[in-house]
Order: sequence, then C-alpha cells, then structure tokens
Amino acid sequence: MSRLSRLSQWRKKLALPAIAILLLLALSAFVPEFRLVPMAAFAPTPTATLPPSTPTPTPSSTATRTPTATRTPRPSATPTVTATPSRLADADAEYVPVLMYHYIRTVDEQADPMGYRLSITPERFAEQMEWLRDNDYTPMRMDALSACLRGLTRCPENPVALTFDDGYTDAATEALPILEEYGFVATFYVVVNFVGKPGYMTWEQIELLRDSGMEIGSHTVNHFDLTGLELGAAQDEIVTSRQLLEERLEIPVVSFSYPVGSYNSALAGVVHSAGYTNAVIVLPGDSITHMYEIPRRRVLGGESIAGFPWYMVPVAVE
Ligand SMILES: [Zn+2]
Repeated sequence: MSRLSRLSQWRKKLALPAIAILLLLALSAFVPEFRLVPMAAFAPTPTATLPPSTPTPTPSSTATRTPTATRTPRPSATPTVTATPSRLADADAEYVPVLMYHYIRTVDEQADPMGYRLSITPERFAEQMEWLRDNDYTPMRMDALSACLRGLTRCPENPVALTFDDGYTDAATEALPILEEYGFVATFYVVVNFVGKPGYMTWEQIELLRDSGMEIGSHTVNHFDLTGLELGAAQDEIVTSRQLLEERLEIPVVSFSYPVGSYNSALAGVVHSAGYTNAVIVLPGDSITHMYEIPRRRVLGGESIAGFPWYMVPVAVE
C-alpha cells in the first residue's frame, strides 16, 4: 500500500512538470516553424539567396534564346506548315521508292565517265517508265506523296516518285515527252540562278513542265553546299528560292532538294519553317521516317532494264 501511494504521489508531482515540458517542446517546435514559413516567403534572407540564383538562369536562358532569336524570322513565313505536321500518318510507312535522276541524254562513256553514270539515255528512261506502267506503279509528285504520307490524302497502291535534280535542259526536251507518253508526273528541282544558263532550262521550259502537270521544287538559289554556309545564309538560299519560284511561276513550291544532298538537323528545321512540306536527300534508305530527310535511290546510267526492279525493293537485307 505504502509503495502504491508513493507512486501515485510521484505521478502527481511529475504531472505538472511533464505537461510543462511537453508544452515547451510543442512551442519550440511550432514557433520556429511559424518563423521559417514567413522567412522563406518574405524575409530578407531569401532575397539574399535569390540574386545569385536569378542571374544564373538569366544568362543561360539568354544564351539558349540567342539561336532561337536568330531563327525568329522563320515562323513568319510558315503559318501554313503548322497545319501539315512533319510527322507521318503511319510511323511504319512502307518503303516508297523515290528515284533520283539527273540527265536524260546520251553520253559517250569514254569521253565522260562521270557524266555517263549520271545520265540515263532517253531509250532506257522510256523502258523504265514502261516497266513502271506494266508493274502497276503510280508515280507521284513529292507534294502529293508528302500529303498522302501525312494522312491528308490516300496513298495509291504502288507509289513511286521520280525526281530530277538541277534543272537541266533535257528535263524539258527528253524527260517530259516520255513522261507525258505514259501519263506520269515527276518533280523537278530547279536552281534559281542557273535558269537560262547553258545546259539549264529556261523559264519558258520550266513553265512548260509546270503546265504539263509536273511539280517544280526548289534546289536553292545558287546550289551551294548548305552545310558550308552560316545558318542565316543557308536560310536565305532556302527561303528566297521558294519565294522567287513562287512569284515567277505562280504556283506553290513545297518540295525541296538539298544541293549535293548535304543537310543537318538545323537545315531541316529551316526548310520546315520556310514553308516546304518535304525535302529529299541523296542517301538511300528503306522507308520515309522524316519528311525533311526523304531518302532516294540514284538511278545510274549504263545499267540494263534488268537492274531497274532493284530500285523498287528496300535496301536492307533480311
Ligand atoms: Zn544538285
């Protein structure tokens, strides 16, 4: 009994100090809490911490913005592009052969071996067109191909695109009559400053192509390797050539071919922003995965028609 009573006495003695200690602990826990919140929000201490943190992002963001600012003129030329996304309607787009031609002419192999490889004789070209017709291929202009790959129109069963670089005279004198014979269309990439020069089409010949249903694309103003230029100068080649062609020919120009196939992602971005819907390169590839890096198969001169079907199948070996 005495032990128990002693204990209860102790409890009584301890109760008040214990409550007091608990209160103090609670207060000491809460008071700094309450102090810290306003300190973080309004106290001068964070203001002291803010200045160092503010300048750090400011220069870095200005640095990142600088290139973007250089590109700012692009959007003004581009409102249309936003409507036609660069993404493909079908990410696993099947292989679409995009053939690359330069000359349709007869060249002496011994006298000009390089020109010989770049040239398809008119007879051979006609044979190739005949093969496409007999095998139910539907040649498409690049503007139409890019629209169907984006899901804006329906793609035909066996699409193929015939493209011609540089705007040589024989595009009008040799290729056009053969294409017309088969009711085919093609895309001709013109270098604005080469128009009318010896060996190159005149404006009248380009108008003839246009009036025959052929597509005229841009191959820049001067045919410089764009990767060797400052981005601003490259942008000028890309934007100005489109403007000049559209003004002179009074048609929309939406297809682009990089001179000598040289490109990089910055250039692809400029081509996109300049209002083009597609751009071709010279490297071969199995499928079109990016509308501004469309691979092409170079049709070589001197090959027999037996080799032509090879261009219609993907490059990769299974
Ligand atoms: Zn070229």
